[in-house]
Amino acid sequence: MTDFPSSRPSAFDFEAERRRMVEQDLRARGIRDSRVLEAFLKVPRERFVPARERVHAYADRPLPIGFGQTISQPYMVAVMLEALELSGREKVLEIGTGSGYQTALLAELAREVYTVDIIPELVDQARWVLKDMGYRNIRFRVGDGGEGWPEHAPFDRIIVSAAMPEIPSPLLEQLADGGILVGPVGDLMEQDLVRLRRRGETFNRQPLGRCAFVPLRGKWGF
Ligand code: SAH
Repeated sequence: MTDFPSSRPSAFDFEAERRRMVEQDLRARGIRDSRVLEAFLKVPRERFVPARERVHAYADRPLPIGFGQTISQPYMVAVMLEALELSGREKVLEIGTGSGYQTALLAELAREVYTVDIIPELVDQARWVLKDMGYRNIRFRVGDGGEGWPEHAPFDRIIVSAAMPEIPSPLLEQLADGGILVGPVGDLMEQDLVRLRRRGETFNRQPLGRCAFVPLRGKWGF
């Protein structure tokens, strides 16, 4: 996957596409959180997709990013970000960096982002793009995200972007009291998007709808 500076002339008006996406695919379908909508208006999705997919950068569907992985559908990312109820003060753990697109949105919406992916090439690529865009509140790690990132726990929010058979216990342990975890739980083909709120040792679980994510790998995956 190669990237080029966003200043390169293009036949596409990506900014107009981005505004259309926010209105039609997000706001019109019920995304209300103004900070979430603002973040989507700001982050250029075209920088996170391979060159051959760039004309589809604002299509409301997942796009291939190599290594059998995909950048998630914008609407699904918006639903997850809204469910996290971010105020800007949170320390967030993201499992499944992928292209880094959702990482950028999180960096706009929260104080600090800790992101983990199991594929080193994807982490390298995302790190490069996000550094180039000027983000300084993101830390990257290559590893099995099911183990979380114990050295930096607890996290106010945890977002998982790969399908889990069950929520890995290290993630439950690393969620702060009063914290929220969002992610897809189910089988390989289809999952429930689940929101978990922690109060002491009680985890309140709320289903937000059906979804289909690529599988989590590793010890806690498929
Ligand atoms: N949010 C991403 C999409 C992620 S796709 C984006 O916006 O582009 C799911 C990602 O989860 C893939 O990059 C995959 O490599 C990663 N993944 C799968 N199993 C993992 C694991 N056990 N730990 C960390 N990352 C994992």
